[in-house]
Amino acid sequence: MNLHEYQTRDLFSKYGVAVPPGILAKNAAEAELAAEKLNSSLYVVKAQVHAGGRGKAGGVKLVKTPKEAGAAAAGMLGRNLITYQTDAKGQPVNSVFVTVGIDIARELYLAILLDRAQGRLVMMASTEGGVEIEKVAHETPEKIIKETIDPALGLQAYQARNLAFALGLEGTQVGKAVTFMLNLYKMYLETDAAIIEINPLVVTKDGDIQALDGKVVLDDNGLFKHPELAALDDTTQHDPRETEARKYDLNYVGLDGNIGCMVNGAGLAMATMDIIKHIGEAQGAAPANFLDVGGGADEVKVTAALKILLGDTQVKGILINIFGGIMKCDTIANGIVAAAKAVNLHVPMVVRLEGTNVELGNKILADSGLPIIAGNSLKDAAEKIVAAIR
Ligand code: GDP
Ligand code: MG
Repeated sequence: MNLHEYQTRDLFSKYGVAVPPGILAKNAAEAELAAEKLNSSLYVVKAQVHAGGRGKAGGVKLVKTPKEAGAAAAGMLGRNLITYQTDAKGQPVNSVFVTVGIDIARELYLAILLDRAQGRLVMMASTEGGVEIEKVAHETPEKIIKETIDPALGLQAYQARNLAFALGLEGTQVGKAVTFMLNLYKMYLETDAAIIEINPLVVTKDGDIQALDGKVVLDDNGLFKHPELAALDDTTQHDPRETEARKYDLNYVGLDGNIGCMVNGAGLAMATMDIIKHIGEAQGAAPANFLDVGGGADEVKVTAALKILLGDTQVKGILINIFGGIMKCDTIANGIVAAAKAVNLHVPMVVRLEGTNVELGNKILADSGLPIIAGNSLKDAAEKIVAAIR
């Protein structure tokens, strides 16, 4: 689960990680008022979306007066912000964060995340803050410094000092940075985070150290322990198809192709997407989604899944690929028929069944009176749906 920047900053404050003061605003008048309250000579107005790269996309504006803060907010609110991290539609801007602007001396980078290869947490720093860290990692990997954390010992002060020195910090900044990093590590553990990233971490003109941006991804599997954090989820930032799928416990990921897929089992779902891409590529066909309805999918789930696929205007055809193992093919076929009758099936649908009672399952589909095209193999089914949407 992603947090907004303003939510991240609240957590930072709670853990003693220094951030400039800021106030959330939902409209231009609130933004102007927020700036008045902050009473500074420089303000930053920041679009709150679940994506980075806002600065370059016009989602971060530096202004001098509360009036200008209101105007900057008006320019961002109510539209979608498209950054290099979003899809082509962008993310809706429903609120802006107004902060006190900081005089920056240096922009650094700091993150903590799990290194899966080592099976350990790593704190990562770079002098190249403020820019895309992916670019730094690609072009000048030597500029990224890492400290691997021993799970039994936790982040050690000497490791934090190593990072602080590598960042070129001096004098009292070193002590501040060490405290900052130790607090961040504590926050990572206590919130069950998957990643915390600060870009930029800045050295101010007064020699202070502050987090100007914050990105937190929480581990979904740890959310049950943190209802107060789970409640921070902003569903307006999710793909609406995914929000709907979550209600029915369907493993769904929206994509931008035109063939809706319904499959049981993640591996089979991946294989189905691959073959659609493989066979359909030359004809402009591609999967519109990943969808694993699970081993024990019943009629309710299948109907919900079909509704999500059919409610998606980009879907021009549906491929159902189900292996009847735990559930027999005739049960699945009955579920598909009932579901297809309950919804308005306005696009071609190919169903490929395999497994126990497959003959009976196919007979149920054929006798249903519905315009269902039977697929005999994975390849055959993919070819049929690609041909059907042309
Ligand atoms: P992102 O583009 O989504 O990562 O948004 P950031 O919060 O990182 O802001 C983008 C850039 O705006 C930063 O890298 C800074 O260069 C600049 N910026 C943000 N806040 C301030 C500030 O308080 N003062 C100054 N001078 N620049 C800022
Ligand atoms: Mg940033």
